[in-house]
Amino acid sequence: MFNFLLNKPLGKYKNVIKKINTFYKIIEEYSDEKLNKQTTKFKLILQNEKNISIESILPEVFATAKEAIKRATGLVLFDLQLIGGIILHQNNIAEMKTGEGKTLVAILPAYLNSLNGKSVHIVTVNDYLAKRDSLLAQKILSYLNVKVGLITQDVEYHYRKQEYKCNITYITNSELGFDYLRDNMAIHQNEIVQKDFYYAIIDEVDSILIDEARTPLIISGKTEFKHSFYEESKDIASSLINQEDYEVDEKSRNITLTEKGITLCEKKLEIKNLYDANSPWIKYILNAIKAKELFIKNRDYIIKNNEITIVDEFTGRILEGRRWSEGLHQAIEIKENIQVTAENKTLASITYQNLFLLYKKLCGMTGTAKTEENEFFKIYKLNVIEVPTNKPCKRKDLADLVFQSEYYKWQAVADECLDMYKIGRPSLVGTTNIEKSELLAKMLDKLNIPYNLLNAKPENLSREAEIITQAGRKHSITISTNMAGRGTDIILGGNPYKLAEIIINKYIKQQLTSENSTMNKSINDDFFHIKHILKKINLKGLKIAIQSNTNRESIVSTMLSDKTQKNSITDVYNNIVEIYKISCEKEKNEILNLGGLYVIGTERHESRRIDNQLRGRSGRQGDKGTSRFFLSLQDNLFRIFGGSTIENLMKKLNINDNTPIESTILSQSLNAAQKKVESYFYDIRKKLFEYDEVINSQRQAIYTERRKILKSIYTKDCIISYGEETINEMLTIYEKNNKTTKIQILTQILQLLSINNHVNPQELNKMNYKDIKYFLYEQLRISYDLKEAYLEQLRPGLIRQLEKYYLLQQIDKAWQEHIEKMNLLKEYIGWRSYGQQDPIIEYKNEAFTLFINMITYIRQTVIYLILRSRLIINT
Ligand code: ADP
Ligand code: MG
Repeated sequence: MFNFLLNKPLGKYKNVIKKINTFYKIIEEYSDEKLNKQTTKFKLILQNEKNISIESILPEVFATAKEAIKRATGLVLFDLQLIGGIILHQNNIAEMKTGEGKTLVAILPAYLNSLNGKSVHIVTVNDYLAKRDSLLAQKILSYLNVKVGLITQDVEYHYRKQEYKCNITYITNSELGFDYLRDNMAIHQNEIVQKDFYYAIIDEVDSILIDEARTPLIISGKTEFKHSFYEESKDIASSLINQEDYEVDEKSRNITLTEKGITLCEKKLEIKNLYDANSPWIKYILNAIKAKELFIKNRDYIIKNNEITIVDEFTGRILEGRRWSEGLHQAIEIKENIQVTAENKTLASITYQNLFLLYKKLCGMTGTAKTEENEFFKIYKLNVIEVPTNKPCKRKDLADLVFQSEYYKWQAVADECLDMYKIGRPSLVGTTNIEKSELLAKMLDKLNIPYNLLNAKPENLSREAEIITQAGRKHSITISTNMAGRGTDIILGGNPYKLAEIIINKYIKQQLTSENSTMNKSINDDFFHIKHILKKINLKGLKIAIQSNTNRESIVSTMLSDKTQKNSITDVYNNIVEIYKISCEKEKNEILNLGGLYVIGTERHESRRIDNQLRGRSGRQGDKGTSRFFLSLQDNLFRIFGGSTIENLMKKLNINDNTPIESTILSQSLNAAQKKVESYFYDIRKKLFEYDEVINSQRQAIYTERRKILKSIYTKDCIISYGEETINEMLTIYEKNNKTTKIQILTQILQLLSINNHVNPQELNKMNYKDIKYFLYEQLRISYDLKEAYLEQLRPGLIRQLEKYYLLQQIDKAWQEHIEKMNLLKEYIGWRSYGQQDPIIEYKNEAFTLFINMITYIRQTVIYLILRSRLIINT
């Protein structure tokens, strides 16, 4: 029985699994009521017995959750799922293949880690999955008296706090990040919605921590717009000469100014130092040269509706709505003489890497992590542990077929689809982008075969999931881009539960809106039988339920998951499911005889991991299946990264155009090219991470200070300490200077403290350093007390509000300016230090100085502003 446990790495779980199942046998006998009390029992144990660790109660807790899962869904967890749960609890990545039941696995450690009252977040890649999984968790955890929260884009701001307070909260990665940034821009403490960052389980962890980690999350606002800067930079750029005034590096897409070029720019602009961090010019100049040399119309961008539209360099896909950042987009607009759009200003930003490193405990699960093991460990300190499939995988991954040209490749793919369609075997075709999926769709239209086309548009998510669940039905052809339908597994013969849900939804919609759309008669032979059953639904009751629920699409699943409210749908649903179960099972067997799901890849992706994701759609839970990649030498990946080896090889093999070849040497070259791409993207992410680490520690410092102020009821101490530190800083400079400057500095301090009218700097300068310091400290307090008394008499309590307001306002303002400076710094640091130091070291040093300057500036302005505040009462 424990065969897989003989397998060495998993052997160590044997004892725990035994313990869990022993508890399980006992708990199975519990009444619902007794089961429900388990949570309180565990919580009390953890509270009262100090020496008890969460670890020691794991077996009973997991057994309890296993029983709740059985009562809610009828499914009994496999031992391998229990192991997956333990792996997650111990802060690792569990690699479990698609369809192995990870959704349920996550519930085990989530439940366990919620018992000490801290928050558990289960993070998903999209709203659809967050909602789907939270409904399932709710259904299960209601047996255990555990509250499940949900945050998606539609959840309004004022509900979020309450959702975050639940024991376990399902949330998407982007909402999590944006809430974090927003919380740290809050003006009142009660605006903060997030509780703590204790334990996160990331589903599809590779997608979130690797694919999405390439671009940071940004909250931005519009800035004022400096048209003349762009114009002037463009003029300067066009007067500069390539190879003389600057050099172009095509591979890294960067520009270096030569000494001559720098001098020329400085002269034209009449400035001393082009690279001074306070001078904005360098960014504009470099962008203008980039626009001139590196960004070419109809290759890097197209002009559509009088707008610059980016073309993805890799996929050739048009990136609708995306813009180049840091002023490059505007530089190109100026070059093309079209209306220049306002630049966005970053108000706050964070990368996913640093967002998730906020958690005390982190773990994740996915079907494909092993290939990126190294990165997970280096950046997140997460180990990847492979969990074998419950049943051995029977999928056959056939050797790649490589065609000379893309044309013949697509022809072959279309022919393959036709053949499969004829025999009824379902196939899933993966494409790297929308255009290609549409190209294939057109070819299939010509062949007159029906198909479902899925591309990753967020608005189609729920429909997509529906199509994917049915992609394993007979004769079905599904064309899908990489992202589409993620998180949903393909069940051969169809999913009876989903089919039942779909037909009920359709029926209700039709009846309530008296739409005349005909029901899909082809669904199956049992149609008439089912139609009869549908009539039992109590439509009157439903009408009310639907009116109070705006999201009609999910009404059925919502009603079904509500176990407290037996309604007419439940019985009808169960009946229909039974009918479908029989027909789906029959269909499944037919498909298995044909070889199971056939996955066709049409291009190698930018990492093997994504190819594996696609293959992994087939061969679910021990089913038979096949996968094969159809490639061509014109594929982007090989064109850009393959070099000439591959082409030469093909020429040598001297094969005519429409004959594909299967060759080991070729396959090896293809693998090598793919690995080059993998490491290329890894480097980008690593670099982003290294740079972000610098700003991250600064961000932590600022956010901590901000939180402290936000929570504080008595901010006077903070103001006074800002004042004292400002005095110290200025006196340090004072000490190092000659007499005239010394007097100047003292004058400045007196002005800052607003006491320049009654203290003479000359006199003050006669005192010794220590006395000056204490004198100024004292004056600061007196000055402040007077200000406080003055304001207090006008409006009691106002001073505390003012303090908070100025502190937050100045911190935010300075921080935003700082981010902008840091962006600038990053942009050109590589060039200034060209050939000298490691740019990241120089970046760190400069960043530190900028940060210290910012802090000093914040303190000074806050003191200055508050000591000068007056109440103006409008009458
Ligand atoms: P994954 O996220 O690993 O791809 P899912 O959580 O979506 O997989 O589950 C895939 C399917 O397997 C679901 O239909 C689920 O109901 C089913 N499943 C999960 N666990 C079990 C189990 N122990 N026994 C039978 N079916 C299960
Ligand atoms: Mg999943």
